[in-house]
Amino acid sequence: RIGDPGRPTWVHLDLTAIADNVRALRNHAGVPLMVVLKGDGYGHGAARVARAALQAGAEMLAVATLGEGRALRAQGIAAPILVLGYTPPWQAAEAIRLDLMLTLFDDDTAQALHAAALECGRPARVHVKVDTGMARLGLSPAEVAPFLSRLRELPGIEPVALYTHFARADEADPTPTEQQLARFQAVLADLTAAGLRPPCVHAANSAATLRFPATHFDMVRPGLACYGLAPGAAAPLLPGMRPALSFYTEVAQVKDHPAGTPISYGGTFVTARPSRIATIPVGYADGLRRSPPWREVLIRGQRAPIVGRICMDYAMVDVTDIPGVRRGDAVTIIGRQGDAVIGVDEIAGWLGTISYEVLTGILPRVPREIG
Ligand code: PLP
Repeated sequence: RIGDPGRPTWVHLDLTAIADNVRALRNHAGVPLMVVLKGDGYGHGAARVARAALQAGAEMLAVATLGEGRALRAQGIAAPILVLGYTPPWQAAEAIRLDLMLTLFDDDTAQALHAAALECGRPARVHVKVDTGMARLGLSPAEVAPFLSRLRELPGIEPVALYTHFARADEADPTPTEQQLARFQAVLADLTAAGLRPPCVHAANSAATLRFPATHFDMVRPGLACYGLAPGAAAPLLPGMRPALSFYTEVAQVKDHPAGTPISYGGTFVTARPSRIATIPVGYADGLRRSPPWREVLIRGQRAPIVGRICMDYAMVDVTDIPGVRRGDAVTIIGRQGDAVIGVDEIAGWLGTISYEVLTGILPRVPREIG
């Protein structure tokens, strides 16, 4: 253990890994890097990731909501921040006061920003978003040039960037990404011809940053890869990149039970043989998903299955086949122990989800310890 996490169940964050990951991505892309810190830095803690990333050469930060941007400013982060998500018009003045750049795609918000900019006496810098195939937020390609023309009539608004987001850059087949890129390039050509192209253009998430140099434009915008996880088999990480997050606990109690003993709520698991069961102080209120359940942890360098229902604060682990397990033994929930590793991608498979949800699913009750 490096510090005192304040609880025998904790997340350890390797900020050196974050810095190395950011450096590797920045060198690979060769353009400025905007680190995506949505969901409290993908569960790692947005402010500490921001500091490590900025020190390692990242130029800009991105969050999902105005509130996430406000939290970074409150922790003294002065770097440029883009709010990627929907910001309603009533938050326009606060965005300007906090010096947060907003994603813009509609006239109501543009009007509100224009009014707020004049009132605050400060410009509202915005990144206009175009939807090239994600079907989430953004203007359709045909709407972009007329929208940017209308913004010219609204003093106080500075469209400093144009961006889009890829839906399938992590998949083996590059075709959907190539189609999105072609649509985006067509928009850029129109804007250039009309003298409306904003000074900065960005598109690439982690997978596109790693795989598709043609998507890098003036800046890249990776999230997951900064935390040391590959967005998919088709988008492997660069040499030296590695996960920053590990999740640990320790054995709270060990009990021997005869065959036929029901374990945990509902007795859904019954021991089939004389069994040694270790109770660990981590449960679904920490993010250890109950259903479909988290499956295994590492104890004494070996995999041990979780048996019976996961409780709010505890889970039971079958350690019958692992000699010598005692109270206080180290338990790895995510990460390495000796030669054994349980990675976030494997857990995502158990839970029927993606690594992003495993990371953001580690709940605030779990202390984060920095190393
Ligand atoms: N850009 C936008 C608009 C996003 O919503 C996200 C996250 O999903 C990212 C960039 C970063 O994506 P990734 O974590 O796959 O790099």
